[in-house]
Amino acid sequence: VFKVRGITKDYGQGEVQVHALRGVDLDLHEGKFIVLLGPSGSGKSTLLNILGGLDIPTSGSVMFHDQNLTAADETQLTWYRRRHVGFVFQFYNLIPSLTARENVALVTEIVDNPLPPAEALKLVGLGKRLDHFPSQLSGGEQQRVAIARAIAKQPDVLLCDEPTGALDITTGITVLEVIERINHELGTSTIVITHNAMIAEMADTVITLSDGHIVSQRENTQKIPVKELQW
Ligand code: ATP
Ligand code: MG
Repeated sequence: VFKVRGITKDYGQGEVQVHALRGVDLDLHEGKFIVLLGPSGSGKSTLLNILGGLDIPTSGSVMFHDQNLTAADETQLTWYRRRHVGFVFQFYNLIPSLTARENVALVTEIVDNPLPPAEALKLVGLGKRLDHFPSQLSGGEQQRVAIARAIAKQPDVLLCDEPTGALDITTGITVLEVIERINHELGTSTIVITHNAMIAEMADTVITLSDGHIVSQRENTQKIPVKELQW
């Protein structure tokens, strides 16, 4: 899906300049489950945001299939995000005055060929919570609504920035199970940022960033389903 070559990202100028990425090369293959690890400030979110078209690198190139994201204008990037990318963040960003179904429908109304909201919510195990408001749902359930919203457009890639960061372990597992199922059943290429090295065991590929560089990349010959991880 992605071919990344020599990307750098600098924020700010002069003495306050931060080199968030210092030359990242990466080939990510269709349908894989990728986990991104690394200390705080190592550039994980910066990399994910660039892959998702939320940010552009200072130099280098990012190819999504045949599309050069680094040569795209703002309109093309907007379409790229809309058609191809589902985002999930640590905080669920649901609209409090809308039900679960309505939160998902906001997205399905602006794309071609979406999953019906009820179907997307069923996929994340919330088929019986369609008309509940965010305040009537637990944190894990709210995050699953956010995941339903991300996948309802049938994106090619699902990008998750610390999706379990605000949840306790047990709840986090239910959220990871949903992400695992989507990757497996829908074949959606998935990238998950986490601070928890245990989560890396459920991935096909584990990439570790440090100080804006990729310091290791390994393939799990045997990935472990989240249910079987020993926490
Ligand atoms: P964390 O695990 O804490 O989320 P991260 O690995 O996701 O960290 P990034 O958010 O990618 O790290 O940040 C990498 C570096 O870039 C940090 O030093 C951060 O302060 C800096 N940075 C990120 N976004 C901006 C911004 N918009 N303006 C200025 N500096 C930024
Ligand atoms: Mg981050």
